[in-house]
Amino acid sequence: MIPFLDLKSINLESAESLTAAFQRVLNSGWYVLGEEVTRFEQEYANWCGAGHAVGVANGLEALSLALRAMGIGAGDEVIVPSNTYIATWLAVSHVGATPVPVEPDPHSYNLDPNRVAAAITSRTRALMPVHLYGQAADLDPLLAVARQHGLKVLEDGAQAHGARYKGRRVGAHGDAVAWSFYPGKNLGALGDAGAITTNDAALAQRLRSLRNYGSSLKYHNEVIGFNSRLDELQAALLRAKLPTLESGNARRAEIARRYLDGLRDVPLVLPQVPAFAEPVWHLFVVRHHDRDQLARRLAEAGIGTVIHYPVPPHLQPAYASLGITPGSLPIAEALHAEVLSLPIGPTMTIEQADAVIAALRRLA
Ligand SMILES: *Cc1c(COP(=O)(O)O)cnc(C)c1O
Repeated sequence: MIPFLDLKSINLESAESLTAAFQRVLNSGWYVLGEEVTRFEQEYANWCGAGHAVGVANGLEALSLALRAMGIGAGDEVIVPSNTYIATWLAVSHVGATPVPVEPDPHSYNLDPNRVAAAITSRTRALMPVHLYGQAADLDPLLAVARQHGLKVLEDGAQAHGARYKGRRVGAHGDAVAWSFYPGKNLGALGDAGAITTNDAALAQRLRSLRNYGSSLKYHNEVIGFNSRLDELQAALLRAKLPTLESGNARRAEIARRYLDGLRDVPLVLPQVPAFAEPVWHLFVVRHHDRDQLARRLAEAGIGTVIHYPVPPHLQPAYASLGITPGSLPIAEALHAEVLSLPIGPTMTIEQADAVIAALRRLA
């Protein structure tokens, strides 16, 4: 049996430091917005080369609070990838704005900078590139279009902890980056958690207020805020795991290299890595013309796979009101019909990768 992702083994590798982190929080007598959150914010900001990090409850709220802190709301349009996890779109809807999908580059699967200008209207306020599957989107041309049209850039980094763009870690290229520490992400908590990184001190300050009832000083509320704080406990657990992120990403890269080499002559479309990107392989996504049957056969052979994602956001019932008909975003629709994510993770072995390769040689 080769599971898609063995979360239990990942966390058991850090059992000692996780237990120590729990004891620290237990004995501190302080459970919300204390030392652990402050320290994790500093450590994570340093890790991704950003001036500030603000811990929040989860990745979706990291995205929606960041949009809110940028002043985006009702009547505004925000450009989002047609090919992403629906949370990117939901954040736009949650602030009352309208998601406007733009198709991905058909090779990198990330937002295509050449298609963005055509989607900009007088209402467009922001661009939301997603570093999908752990690979940075082509940020320089996206930032250039944004500057030209006076748009904010909010990156969705939920799948890309440690990913590099032109040698520099994602974290402060655009105006802000939203992060998720959902357990299955490259840096995962033992529950829900999220953060925003930015070099904009005023934006960070607004986010600190928004996550905490719109208050910077206890019982004084400057805006209508939320309760969306990163827990002390999750912050402590994340601090215990942060030192393992680099080696975990390195193992993922090793597995990815093995797959790319071993699957070269198998009838699958393999991931392509543009020269500007050093991915962290949150997912290793292949395409196959008969994806569902391939997934079934792999399951019979004891190999776990997942589809990221089976239905694109514009065809979900939740977005029926946008009236985007099937066939109107053909690149995203083709991707959703063919993609399959192979097992990959920080505790997976090369022997397991070889077994996946052998099975695909037989079954694909
Ligand atoms: C996981 C994910 C999110 C949402 O994060 P949560 O912490 O689960 O709310 C947003 N965007 C992308 C691309 C994701 O993969």
